Amino acid sequence: MAEIVKENISISILRVNEEIANELRQFFNQKKIFVVNLISSPGSGKTMLIERLLDYFDKKKVFVFVGDIETEKDAKRIREKGANSYQIITGNTCHLEAIMIKKGLSLIEDCTEYLFIENVGNLVCPASYDLGEHLRISMISTPEGDDKILKYPKAFLTSDVIVINKIDLLKYLPFDIKKVEEEARKIKNEVKIFKISALLGEGVKDLADFIKEERERKFKN
Ligand code: MG
Ligand code: ZN
Repeated sequence: MAEIVKENISISILRVNEEIANELRQFFNQKKIFVVNLISSPGSGKTMLIERLLDYFDKKKVFVFVGDIETEKDAKRIREKGANSYQIITGNTCHLEAIMIKKGLSLIEDCTEYLFIENVGNLVCPASYDLGEHLRISMISTPEGDDKILKYPKAFLTSDVIVINKIDLLKYLPFDIKKVEEEARKIKNEVKIFKISALLGEGVKDLADFIKEERERKFKN
């Protein structure tokens, strides 16, 4: 019984989230702001990837929302790179919800063309919460092990892009990158895969170019 009640609550929470996410997407479409939701485990390099991506964008046109359970550390790092950022401190919540994004909308400027959302480090529930994004990226990093795709299929199934980060460490780790790519394709054949080292900047430009092309495709009229 308790399980059934719990299930109903989560379905209604997700339904409300979906409504707000659709509202957000309308807002973003109207303003031609292309929104990227970045999902991964803690420590796999989300903030560093955004820092490196910023090198290929006009920083005045990028706004970054950063979700963390505690601290403003990551938003500060983004600001030090020269882009605007807003830290969402979620307290007990291990994922971002559309309502949290809505609260930050008034901060976004007229010149903003891209909103990067760094989700809370977690490969589980962020997969269930639409944030009104246009592009979802799920990332794994080589030290985490090469079994993440099959263990957390929802994150990868709901993503448009899979990033494999920290490829500079491949030579030290028992990480079978071919197997990871095959498993990713098994889950979602059309998914885009980028192999990068955010630390060394390797492969980051290709991802930046892809994001720009996707924005152009989305808002071509
Ligand atoms: Mg971070
Ligand atoms: Zn959660």
